[in-house]
Amino acid sequence: MHLARFPRRRYTPFATPIEKLEHLSSYLAGPEIYVKRDDLLGLAAGGNKTRKLEFLVADALAIGADTLITVGAVQSNHCRLTLAAAVKEGLKCRLVIEERVPGSYHPNASGNNFLFKLLGVEQLEVVSDGTDLSAAMQRVVQELETEGRKGYPIPGGGSNALGALGYVSCAEEILHQTFDMGLELDHIVTSSGSGGTHSGLVAGMHGNSAGIPVTGISVRFDKERQAERIHALAEEASELTGVTTPVPRESVVVLDDYVGPGYSLPTEAMVEAIQVFARLEGLLLDPVYTGKAAAGLIDLVRRGRFERGEKVLFMHTGGSPALYHYQETILD
Ligand SMILES: *Cc1c(COP(=O)(O)O)cnc(C)c1O
Repeated sequence: MHLARFPRRRYTPFATPIEKLEHLSSYLAGPEIYVKRDDLLGLAAGGNKTRKLEFLVADALAIGADTLITVGAVQSNHCRLTLAAAVKEGLKCRLVIEERVPGSYHPNASGNNFLFKLLGVEQLEVVSDGTDLSAAMQRVVQELETEGRKGYPIPGGGSNALGALGYVSCAEEILHQTFDMGLELDHIVTSSGSGGTHSGLVAGMHGNSAGIPVTGISVRFDKERQAERIHALAEEASELTGVTTPVPRESVVVLDDYVGPGYSLPTEAMVEAIQVFARLEGLLLDPVYTGKAAAGLIDLVRRGRFERGEKVLFMHTGGSPALYHYQETILD
C-alpha cells in the first residue's frame, strides 16, 4: 500500500504508544490485553478523528478551501477536532450539530460543547435527528459561496474513503510497532461508529496480508447494517490505495450487543468499563464510544472468546472530553 501518494498534514509527531494493561489482564484472568493509545493523538485533546483529518484537511488545503464544514452529535469529538484542525491551519470552521436524542442539545453544556465555543467555532447550527446532513452542509457551502468563500464539507466522523486512510496508515503503524516490540497480536478490538476507524483497520490489515482479525463493537447501528457499511467503506479505501484483491466480507466482524438503548445512552456495562479502566489502569474512556467498546472487550474475555495467552489490542480512540459531561451517570 503506497500511502505517500496522498497529501497529508501531520498533527501527531510520533507513533502513539502500545502499552500492556497488566492490571486489567490479571483482573480478567484471560488474554494479555494491550492498548493502542490513540487518545494521545495530536490536536485539542486528541482522539481518532485526528488521523482522518490529516488526509481530509490536506485535501481541503489542496483545493483552496478557507472553511471546514462538518456534522456531528451534540458531544461530537469529531466536530471538536475538525475545529481544532481548522484553527491550526488558519481556516474557519462551521458545524452542523445533529440532535440525535431529542432534547439533548443544551447550549451551555460542558465537555465538547464547551470546547466548540472555546476553540472559536464560526457558526453552529442545530438540526433534528434524521435531517439530511449532506444537504445541510451543502447549504453552508452555498452560503459561503455568496460571500466569495470556499467551504470544504467533511462527512460525519470524517468517514469517507480518504478519511479512512488515516486508519489504513494506523494499521501499518501497528504492524511496524508490534514487529519492533516482538509482539504477535491475535486480535484487535475497536469501537465502530461512523466507520472510518474500523474500515481503515480492516483495509490496512487486508492490504498488508496481516491476518489479524478486527472486531468492531457497534455504538449505534445493528450488526447487519453496520457490517454492510464497514465492508463498503473498507473496500472503497482499499481500492483508493491501489489494492486489487477485494476485501473479504467475512473479515468484517461487528457486534451490536453493547449499544444498549441507543447511541450515546448509558448502559451499566459501560459505566463498569469506565470505572475499571480508570481504577486499574488510570485510563479515561468516554461513555459514547470507548466505554461501550471496552464493555464489549470485558464481556468477550469473560465469556471465553479469547484463549489465555492470546494477545488482544484494544483501540483507545479518545473521547475523554465528553466524559466530563456525564459525571452523574459514571459516579452514581
Ligand atoms: C468517532 C469516535 C469513535 C468511532 O470512530 P468511527 O471512525 O466514527 O467509527 C470512537 N471513539 C471516539 C472517542 C470517537 O470520537
